[in-house]
Amino acid sequence: MTTTESTDVLVIGSGFGGAIAAYHLAAGGAQVKVFERGPWLKADDFEHDFKLGASYTRVFDFVIGDGMSVLGGNCVGGGSVVYFATMPRAPRFVFERHGSIGRRMWPAAISRDTLEPWYDRVAEALPVTQQTWDRVPYAGGLFAAACHHAGRTANPAPSAIDVDMCTNCNWMMAGCRFDAKRSLLLNYLPAALAHGAEIRPLHEVQHLVRNADGSYRVHYRVVDEEDYRILHGEGTIDAKIVVLAAGAGATPVILQRSEPHLGRMPHAVGRYFSGNGERLNTAVFDEDRVREVLKLSRPDGRAYEAYQIGRGPTVASWDRLDGALPEFERYSLEQLYFPPALGTILAQVPDASPSWFGREKKEMLRRWQSWLTIFTMSEDDNEGVFGPPPETGNAHRFSQQMLGHGPLRYRPTENTRRGWSLADADVKDILERDGLSRVMPWTNDLVGAYTVHPLASCRIGDDPATSALDDRHELRGHPGIFVTDGSAVPGALTVNPASTIAALAERAMPGIVRAARDRGVAVTYGAPSPDGETAGRRAVAHLRS
Ligand SMILES: Cc1cc2nc3c(=O)[nH]c(=O)nc-3n(C[C@H](O)[C@H](O)[C@H](O)COP(=O)(O)OP(=O)(O)OC[C@H]3O[C@@H](n4cnc5c(N)ncnc54)[C@H](O)[C@@H]3O)c2cc1C
Repeated sequence: MTTTESTDVLVIGSGFGGAIAAYHLAAGGAQVKVFERGPWLKADDFEHDFKLGASYTRVFDFVIGDGMSVLGGNCVGGGSVVYFATMPRAPRFVFERHGSIGRRMWPAAISRDTLEPWYDRVAEALPVTQQTWDRVPYAGGLFAAACHHAGRTANPAPSAIDVDMCTNCNWMMAGCRFDAKRSLLLNYLPAALAHGAEIRPLHEVQHLVRNADGSYRVHYRVVDEEDYRILHGEGTIDAKIVVLAAGAGATPVILQRSEPHLGRMPHAVGRYFSGNGERLNTAVFDEDRVREVLKLSRPDGRAYEAYQIGRGPTVASWDRLDGALPEFERYSLEQLYFPPALGTILAQVPDASPSWFGREKKEMLRRWQSWLTIFTMSEDDNEGVFGPPPETGNAHRFSQQMLGHGPLRYRPTENTRRGWSLADADVKDILERDGLSRVMPWTNDLVGAYTVHPLASCRIGDDPATSALDDRHELRGHPGIFVTDGSAVPGALTVNPASTIAALAERAMPGIVRAARDRGVAVTYGAPSPDGETAGRRAVAHLRS
């Protein structure tokens, strides 16, 4: 006979939404367990290698959908381990968006002003700092110079990277070996542990069942450390409060699979998915033109040729983040480093010349150090819908690590396409001016759209018909279940989302603590922002005195 454990709070997923919840609830005195489907890696485990079994394949989850693929984190720390740590706050107009539902998408209680103190908390906790021009690596400088040449503006972006510790190795996407990237492994999670929270890696939650006393029984499987297709033992744990934070590609799937046990889900669960309007363009620069037109050179006589040196995105152009522009025509353009091995898979253009195939592709690869990748984040139309859930997890895993087929279907609407084509034209205008480069456009025709910023698949809102959660992040009709990850964000943000996801999670915490108290959990709210283990311990002292 198997026994069922119990806990006050079960947190599902250890990315931004999960780590913040785990910290506050543990610091307030609740018994907290965090189940994370991926492995637990630390700085020394992050390798600078692409081989199977290296951290690169262990910490990612790449789910291929129908018309939209999603790349996310798969480890303790979630997307914060693999992110580029660019942390802008969403522009004011985002909160006033109507999308295609014809009324404000965000709850009336949330605006840029009301979210500001929660953004501040996140900025203090990670911490987030404004990057400066004198520390911007070559690729950022090149994009800025090209923008200036085209009469546009560009700015260094706020970032959660300690630039004094950063070696500009540009391998942060597989986890930062130098702890320069401020992932959740360095702040909220150690602080949660210091307050007694327990994190269990390789524990994948499958579905939830409601108990007679109103608590929830959570069913999980244990994932094999090397071959994620293999699931070992299964188990159950009872929790008075469940915080779902498995990411926007997984949270709705867990809820859909739970529907036969929990009862009817709100209509918006697994609908209104947004890919944050993402799109990639890769430009191949003519180094002579960079020298002649932009007057850029490196000390060793090269003009640019430094794609591999840096730290992901450092410079963005925000000219189109103008609330006066029509909805769906606003976007940001961000210089980005995307490892060429992945870039060639993702950015294949069937009919373009030069092509990504054959001899021309070889030539492209030979020149990879002269690439500049530009990342667009625009306003899409929340057009993603999840089909029936796979048997386990959020995808049918078909390789040992990293790859799976998922149930997400995404058909970009005219609105979304309009934003993309305006952004594509802008990128060409900036980067091809005076023969600076040749831009290789992204194509949806071959591989569909893809996103590293999944959002809105279980969103907050005031209207029960178009939102799954109320403005306190509680799942409508299912008291005691809260969602604090990217799926709660109502729609595309036109900038990188982690800062907003985290601010919303911080904002949701007083309400979740209150709900836990109502369910008999002895917990208080009021822990300061963690600053690693030390401040976490200080917070314990403060709360118990
Ligand atoms: C390559 C890359 C670069 C990025 N760069 C940036 C950037 O510069 N700036 C920015 O703002 N954002 C960036 N992002 C996006 C950012 O990482 C995400 O928006 C953010 O991590 C989402 O937080 P979350 O809480 O929604 O979910 P996640 O951080 O994705 O956490 C969800 C966690 O839940 C786990 N999980 C899933 N299913 C289950 C289950 N069934 N049981 C248990 N655990 C489960 C997952 O393994 C994961 O660890 C980047 C993402 C990628 C992939």
